[in-house]
Amino acid sequence: MDFSLSDEHLELRRQMREIMTATVTAEVIDETHRSGTNHAPGFIEALGDAGILARAMPGPGQDPVDMWLVSSEAEKFGAPFDAGGMATSIAGVLAQLGTDEQRRRITPGLLSGRELVCFGLTEPDGGSDLPRIKTRAVRNETDDGWIINGAKMWTTMGHVADWVFLLARSDASAGRYGGFTTFIIPMSTPGITVDPVWTMGTERSNATFYDDVRVGDECLVGEAHEGWRTMGIMLAFERGLGNTGALTPLLRRFAQWATESGTIDDPLVRDHMAQLAIEAQVAELLTQRTVWTIATGEGPGTEGSVAKVYATEAYQRAARWAQATAGADGLLRFHEAGAAADGWIDYDVRHSTPQTLQGGTSEINRNNIAERQFGLPRMR
Ligand SMILES: Cc1cc2nc3c(=O)[nH]c(=O)nc-3n(C[C@H](O)[C@H](O)[C@H](O)COP(=O)(O)OP(=O)(O)OC[C@H]3O[C@@H](n4cnc5c(N)ncnc54)[C@H](O)[C@@H]3O)c2cc1C
Repeated sequence: MDFSLSDEHLELRRQMREIMTATVTAEVIDETHRSGTNHAPGFIEALGDAGILARAMPGPGQDPVDMWLVSSEAEKFGAPFDAGGMATSIAGVLAQLGTDEQRRRITPGLLSGRELVCFGLTEPDGGSDLPRIKTRAVRNETDDGWIINGAKMWTTMGHVADWVFLLARSDASAGRYGGFTTFIIPMSTPGITVDPVWTMGTERSNATFYDDVRVGDECLVGEAHEGWRTMGIMLAFERGLGNTGALTPLLRRFAQWATESGTIDDPLVRDHMAQLAIEAQVAELLTQRTVWTIATGEGPGTEGSVAKVYATEAYQRAARWAQATAGADGLLRFHEAGAAADGWIDYDVRHSTPQTLQGGTSEINRNNIAERQFGLPRMR
């Protein structure tokens, strides 16, 4: 395994750092916390203008190291990249399964950072077990279009997105994985409503409702009733590359606070910080392993699940340890007088919990590893 970065990748990293330093200021981060919308338009648009979102798009013919480098640099910096990650994933899906018309009409907006897409997959009764979703897409015989009815849960970015990538059941008689259809639909389509859902991590997500939403075949992604194939491609893009680098900024902020407060004089604290630095490095290596398997055509296997479980649980353990170490000051929020690391420790504790859920829970990823890596029996 060769870990060195080429000159081209080093240049990409330099560009990323330059853009983040210029666009992800303390005021911008404050605004994401105030609004709960983990999106910094100036940052994502600058990535679009520099052609970086196009480079970070996953899929055949793309450089997976570019994709990893962009999300990894953003996470290490603490820059909000969720909108960029969703846009590049869907651009990658459209590159493989979309029509020429969709690639002309939708992809440029996504890769410029000026149009956002949200994921309408999870439902109140179907998160881990996606085949249980109940949102229905029914053929409208009169105009050859579709009528969609249902409710989605956790549609993050739904309140600012231009598009929703939606999974619906189009043929209930087609067995567990048959009869799904995926759509990409303008959020402005009549019949779509968005209600806020506030998470403990301060992030705003949404419940979205689809009442007699009428769309034409131009909104289909892939073939009708073949949506499970589309989902396989999309979920493979999502797993393992994102949400694995949060330990690094946590450790950086904790180290600064521990130095300023004198907590670092305690040898047990220093010892534990060294352990966290090791765990951050392991998380990065596991993520690189996922990239490597994709780059060499071996993946995606279970590497993404391994990286996600390890990294998000290490982040959660670290945040809780940091809070216990900071004591009462670790419970104070951003800008409250005396808040440890100016409120970041409290934030990391709250933010690290949803991280082990979104994009596939730890339990589901463990099941995936058990079944696919060790051939253990399915328990459901
Ligand atoms: C902050 C946040 C943002 C999100 N953003 C989006 C988004 O933008 N778009 C979107 O579509 N979804 C989004 N999600 C949804 C996310 O993907 C789901 O929460 C996740 O897949 C789990 O589904 P669920 O919440 O329905 O939990 P459930 O599936 O109801 O699971 C509940 C618990 O049971 C466990 N469990 C379930 N089945 C099994 C099993 N077979 N074996 C062992 N344990 C099991 C789970 O691990 C979990 O602990 C988001 C979630 C969060 C928290």
